[in-house]
Amino acid sequence: MKPIFPTVIAFDLDAETLWTGRNPDNAARPVLLSHGAFEIREALSPILAVLAAHGVSSTFFVPGATADRYPDAVRAIVDAGHEIASHGHGHRPIPDLDARQEEDELVRGLDSLEAVTGKRPTIWRSPSWEWSDRTLDLLLKHGITVSANFHDRLRPYRHERDGKPLPLVELPVQWHLTDNPYFFYGGQVGRVVRPASVAREVWEEEFSGLYERPGAYYHLCLHPQLIGHPGRLKMLDAHLGFVKGHDGVRFMTASEAAATVE
Ligand SMILES: [Zn+2]
Repeated sequence: MKPIFPTVIAFDLDAETLWTGRNPDNAARPVLLSHGAFEIREALSPILAVLAAHGVSSTFFVPGATADRYPDAVRAIVDAGHEIASHGHGHRPIPDLDARQEEDELVRGLDSLEAVTGKRPTIWRSPSWEWSDRTLDLLLKHGITVSANFHDRLRPYRHERDGKPLPLVELPVQWHLTDNPYFFYGGQVGRVVRPASVAREVWEEEFSGLYERPGAYYHLCLHPQLIGHPGRLKMLDAHLGFVKGHDGVRFMTASEAAATVE
């Protein structure tokens, strides 16, 4: 029998923070911000329906500012049986922050999600997938037990310091296993909108390779404002069908995947 193949289908519910985190001036651009509002108004419900149709329990990484603005959307995700994880507060890139700001973003993000869900998250994805040289200590200090940011392994692993294991598991990600490179577009010169079939081809090519690699796992990182358009959602539906067609595939939340690490 094929051993269990851990499969994480995760979402980053950035909403408007995707646009304001990197450039606060974008707060004065209502049309640009409407990409973020689309995520809540049009994308979220159909995504939850697709996940339910495939029996997928997912993890949604939510910036605190998104939870402050759309608490009902976060509660709808919880009510649908999915896991809520932290994604900072204002989606500000870590390399732009000083020590005080970095800790403030982390703590405010956790506070906002706790206020909405009643539960303090212990899983965290950095906005922009960056750490600073302070991040490890901050995560340990504030009770984060799962990070989903590094690109260095094909499988979940435990962080170490001086050869000693730490109470922090990493769920590695890859740029080709997210939707940004294919669909992220804000009118920038030089960017190209790609057909959904291109993303599907890359994801399935990579899934097939990972599936054959002993001990590897699959971790897809999606953004409702990008994947949640009707044609792309049909592609995701078909992709989940493809994934499910493999013996041993077990859809897991981030905490379930982290629990596979000793
Ligand atoms: Zn994000």
